Amino acid sequence: MKIGFSPEDEAFRQEIAQWLADHLRGEFAQLRFRGGPGDEHMFPEERKAWERELAKGGWIGIGWPKECGGRGLSISQQVIFNEEYARAGGPGRMGHIGEGLIGPTLVAMGTKEQQQRFLPGILQGEEFWCQGYSEPSAGSDLAGVKTRAQLDESGENWLINGQKVWTSLAHESQWCFVLARTTPGSVGHQGLSFLLVPMDQPGIEVQPIQQLTGTSEFNEVFFADARTPADHIIGQPGDGWKVAMALLGFERGVSTLGQQMQFKNELDEIIRIAKDNGSAQDPLIRQRLAQAWAGLKVLRYNSLRMLSGSQDGSLRREAMIYKLAWSNWHRDLGKLAMDILGPEAEVLEGGPYELSRLQSLFLFTRSDTIYGGSNEIQRNIIAERALGMPREPKLQL
Ligand SMILES: Cc1cc2nc3c(=O)[nH]c(=O)nc-3n(C[C@H](O)[C@H](O)[C@H](O)COP(=O)(O)OP(=O)(O)OC[C@H]3O[C@@H](n4cnc5c(N)ncnc54)[C@H](O)[C@@H]3O)c2cc1C
Repeated sequence: MKIGFSPEDEAFRQEIAQWLADHLRGEFAQLRFRGGPGDEHMFPEERKAWERELAKGGWIGIGWPKECGGRGLSISQQVIFNEEYARAGGPGRMGHIGEGLIGPTLVAMGTKEQQQRFLPGILQGEEFWCQGYSEPSAGSDLAGVKTRAQLDESGENWLINGQKVWTSLAHESQWCFVLARTTPGSVGHQGLSFLLVPMDQPGIEVQPIQQLTGTSEFNEVFFADARTPADHIIGQPGDGWKVAMALLGFERGVSTLGQQMQFKNELDEIIRIAKDNGSAQDPLIRQRLAQAWAGLKVLRYNSLRMLSGSQDGSLRREAMIYKLAWSNWHRDLGKLAMDILGPEAEVLEGGPYELSRLQSLFLFTRSDTIYGGSNEIQRNIIAERALGMPREPKLQL
């Protein structure tokens, strides 16, 4: 594996850095360094407008193939884009689920018609997506999905009934990809289908859930005879598990780059505060800062190693350890931030939920070791798939 950038890559770095300097100003200046973890509720409309600005510059879908409307850029150029984006303080991406998750899945597994219908909305920053996987009794055990879908009498529409939960940004999305059971009486991985469902319809109700941070990034989503056209399905009826797993492969791949670059900004801010408030004099704090810095380097090189392989949605070995590594690193960073801020960080000023950015970071990072597969589940995956240990016994109910 080669780690390093070519002269063409460095020229590309200049191009994106200049573009960001020219465009993250005026009405968009207020968005710099905003909308990250714990701050994701801020400026949603302005950040959607920013997505359209990125689109005009051709900066959405930069890794997608050209024939699908992307720019077909190399992994190293995608790394550079994300580095420069974070360095410039580019805001948290409202279009992340579209660009990073469903877009690549449509590219890999969608029909031509589906690609033509859905990819332009993502590339233009006009259509936003949410992920309808988890349910009250299907989280870690996703195959326990109970939401049902069946074709109506005319065969023209899927009728969907059931409930999803923890659906990030459902309240900001026009579309949801829904894992639903389309074979009545099926259990486990069998009989599931992957449907593309419009959110703005009478059959869908979105109810926000308040998080530790006091904000509501995720929601409950209720489906009562919600509809979507019969051809809004990726793969065949019954292929849902295969498609859902491929999408998770994309979630653990290139789409993690932007997030990792944001981590660097957070660590830089924490180091600056430690120097300013004198806590950098504390030998234990210095040790933890050095550990955090080294940990971030390891994350970076592991992700470059992970991305140097094929990006087809399969779960590579490097990706298996990556989720466990970054989520624990980030949770620990939240704790470190609080310790550096000192005891007063545990006291809130003003209303119950007027948190500073780092207080929000601390609280929000508690969720990192849960979403996208909890720590325990990640360890199970490593044990079974990477180390070849026996599968864990299933509880017979
Ligand atoms: C901030 C946030 C955003 C999210 N966004 C979305 C979203 O947009 N769309 C979506 O579909 N979902 C989303 N989720 C849901 C997330 O994927 C689930 O929370 C996660 O999969 C865990 O499922 P659960 O909450 O049902 O917990 P459970 O599966 O009930 O797990 C409870 C506990 O038991 C442990 N456990 C479970 N099974 C095992 C096992 N076999 N062995 C050992 N321990 C086990 C878990 O590790 C956990 O500690 C989000 C969650 C969070 C926190």
